[in-house]
Amino acid sequence: MLQRGIYLGKILGIEIGLDYSWFLIFGLVTWTLSSSYTEFYPHWASQYPVWGNSVFWVVGLLTSLLFFSSVLAHEMGHSIVAIRTGLPVQSITLFLFGGVARIVREPSSPMQEFVIAIAGPIASLILGLLFWLLSITSVPDTPVQALADNLSYINLALAIFNMIPGFPLDGGRVLRAVLWKVFGDIYRATRIASLAGRGVGILFIAGGVTLALWYPEHLINGLWLGLIGWFLHNTAFNSQRQTLQRQILASYRVGDLAHSDLPQIESHITLDELVQEYLLKRGAHSVRVVQNGEFVGLITMNDVKKIPRAIWEMTRVSSAMTALHGMLKVDADESLAALYDRMSVNGVGQVLVVRGSEIIGVVTHGQLLGFLRTHAEMGSK
Ligand SMILES: [Zn+2]
Repeated sequence: MLQRGIYLGKILGIEIGLDYSWFLIFGLVTWTLSSSYTEFYPHWASQYPVWGNSVFWVVGLLTSLLFFSSVLAHEMGHSIVAIRTGLPVQSITLFLFGGVARIVREPSSPMQEFVIAIAGPIASLILGLLFWLLSITSVPDTPVQALADNLSYINLALAIFNMIPGFPLDGGRVLRAVLWKVFGDIYRATRIASLAGRGVGILFIAGGVTLALWYPEHLINGLWLGLIGWFLHNTAFNSQRQTLQRQILASYRVGDLAHSDLPQIESHITLDELVQEYLLKRGAHSVRVVQNGEFVGLITMNDVKKIPRAIWEMTRVSSAMTALHGMLKVDADESLAALYDRMSVNGVGQVLVVRGSEIIGVVTHGQLLGFLRTHAEMGSK
């Protein structure tokens, strides 16, 4: 589901939503467009006496709605190709800085990355062309012609802006696909493409500050440019960090992290006792639960937290634990990166690590995060 905002419905199984921040930019764009119509086509007010001065606002609102429909079409371009090449798309959200399609996994080949990335700008180019055709075939200086003219420029600008070669912009993704193909290494490709994205972000910030200081009449444009630059820089920086994390995770097996020496308790013990004796005093994260000497499940602080504290004293571990048969089983030779994906997609807190029919141990989500944290600390020293 969408994190915050308004859910509009589904197109081709993809959730479409508006982030709350979108309303701000929608208002701003509508206002800017209406003002420019008022300035450049003052004769509309007398040409459409029924509408009077409200004609500028109506056409401005319509252009603005089609502007954001164009952004949506751009994201649909990415999404349709993603789905066609086997990558599920969860949602498309319009927000302050445009649109974002949430694709569930990373592309699995440079070619797949390339076609998904290029599909958005191509969709914008096609739309730009269609609006241009409408513009040259309609009566000059009418609302339809002005609207079509504006939208042909907007779509062309969307295509060009997105092709700037800095990750996470589409051009940066194309760059990553090419570098990935050349080096045969997605991590190295992502590092370089993200670095380019940070560079683009810094250039935008510098350009925005310069514009705002030297040309006070362009203060708003300068601030806006700087804000976009700041957003690009942050997104590129985060993707760089995530790539590093994935690279670390990909180089370890699940078996490397599996805890086989977990403390063990009997299933009839109460939660209160479990918390006091094992989780607090011994600092255990998860505890094996046994019944008549047989391993039946696992209990962690997360399981305990689901039970109201008032009844900890009378609740047995057996009724709060995650039963063995209900746990996700993962092969010890699987990579930690694959495990991380599976845990995130399935929303599970712990998995059972197996080799054939033998139980090797347990890996929890908290353990994975701790592992990444330790690596990050080692890296920074
Ligand atoms: Zn795009």
